[in-house]
This record gives sequence, structure tokens and C-alpha cells, in this order.
Amino acid sequence: RSMLPPVKKDRIITELPKCFSPSAALHTKEAFHPQVKAVCQTKKRGTVGFNIAKVIVVGDVAVGKTCLISRFCKGAFDKNYKATIGVDFEMERFEVLGVPFSLQLWDTAGQERFKCIASTYYRGAQAIIVVFDLSSAGSLAHARQWLEDAMKENDPSSVLLFLVGTKKDLSSPEQLAYVEQEAIRLSEEIRAEYWAVSAKSGRDFFFRVASLTFEANVLAELERRGSRDVGDIIRITGSTEDVRKPTKRKSNCC
Ligand code: GDP
Ligand code: MG
Repeated sequence: RSMLPPVKKDRIITELPKCFSPSAALHTKEAFHPQVKAVCQTKKRGTVGFNIAKVIVVGDVAVGKTCLISRFCKGAFDKNYKATIGVDFEMERFEVLGVPFSLQLWDTAGQERFKCIASTYYRGAQAIIVVFDLSSAGSLAHARQWLEDAMKENDPSSVLLFLVGTKKDLSSPEQLAYVEQEAIRLSEEIRAEYWAVSAKSGRDFFFRVASLTFEANVLAELERRGSRDVGDIIRITGSTEDVRKPTKRKSNCC
């Protein structure tokens, strides 16, 4: 059993990161839920029982899904290695309120080209990121369908949704204003948090995803346990080995 090295300094979250647009946010609270803060303060040591969130990224071909993930996950495994061992996600490690927490970021790896994504890809997601290209109205129009497909495999009450526009640099200000208005309207309707990303804001976005999934995980765990043994909720597991095992993709699709 190997102990993981400490989380990098630039992945430490101590305050709840702000949303992108208050008119299309999952919530606009300024701080982490008080109960979540309390539970993290009383932790003994080591990692938590709820220390990983599966995050899936969907959207049309070429909207920029892979770029969005890889811009953030620098120094991750190289593509050939991943393809060989069959792993199609990146692990990004954080520390939230002093507790180790990882995002397991799944990339479609080209499956979206056939509009047919293996159900194992969608299953058990804690967050769904629907990506569209701000300079292509068609990609926003398809966002709803991507979301519906992804939701078929998930429990709507336990999934956080994000609608993310990329390629901000390719749009004129007028075009951007128009598409954003449409995107915010859709976000409100599907209850997603809206973000427009550039190379710079990609980091803020993933910090927000990490914080909100962490908060949701802790709250769900508290609810499940009826808020009893608060101190016991944080377990010492020492390793995240199990979840790192590569998953076999179903081949009877398409
Ligand atoms: P995917 O098919 O959704 O994974 O899309 P990719 O991440 O492979 O990106 C498709 C193309 O869009 C590539 O040529 C990228 O260089 C380009 N691209 C991605 N993000 C941006 C962006 O923010 N701005 C611009 N100008 N191009 C981008
Ligand atoms: Mg891709």
C-alpha cells in the first residue's frame, strides 16, 4: 500500500471559489456550508470516505473538451500510455478544507464522434460538464441532448451540472453577448452552472467543480448518517488504489 505524496500547494482550497455568473449558478453562497466546515475541522487525519468525485465531460466533437481537461491537468499520463492500459480519465488531486479530495475527470476519447457513448462512461457521475463552443450556435443547441443522454444513467438529484462555453477568443463581443444570453437561459432551465472559459479561467472553473462536488459529497454523507458520529465520517483509507483501476469499456455499443 503506497501513501500518496502531499497535495501540491496550488491545489489547496480553503475558501469557496466564486461562481462565474450569479444569474446561472448552482448557488451563490459566499462560503462553504457551515456543517461541512465543522466536519472538516473535526477530522482526525488521513483521507475521507467521500474523497473522490467522478466528473464526466460531454459535448460535440471539436468543441474543446480535451483541451479544457488537459490545460488543467498538466503533467498527466501521456495519451498512448492511457490508451494502452485502457484508462480514459485524469486524476486531479486537491485539498479542500484540509481534506484530500480528487476529481476523476473523464474524457470521451473520441466516442462522441459516433454519438454513442458507452454507458460505463456516464454511470455514477457526480458532476456532468456539458461543453459547447461559444463561436458555434449549433454546439449549444446540441447541449441539451448531451445532457439528456448523460442523465439517463444517473440520479438527477445527486448530480451537479455545469454548462461550459469554450473558445471565447474566437467570438466578437456582440456574438459572445448573444450566445451567452442563450447559454444562461438554458442553464437556468436545466439547473446548470454556467461558465465561459479561456486559458486563464479554466483553473477557476475546476476549483469550483472540486469545491461544489466536495461540499455535496460531505452533505450527502451527513444526511445518510443522520448527522450522528460526525467525527467518524472521515475515515483513514491511506490509498485511492481501488478507484484507479482501469475500467473496461463495453464493446457492444455502436
Ligand atoms: P474535443 O473534440 O471536444 O475534445 O476538442 P479538442 O479539445 O480536441 O479541440 C478541438 C480544436 O479546438 C483544437 O484544434 C483546439 O486547438 C481548438 N480549441 C480548443 N479550445 C480552444 C480555445 O479556447 N480557443 C481556440 N481558439 N481554439 C480552441
Ligand atoms: Mg477530445
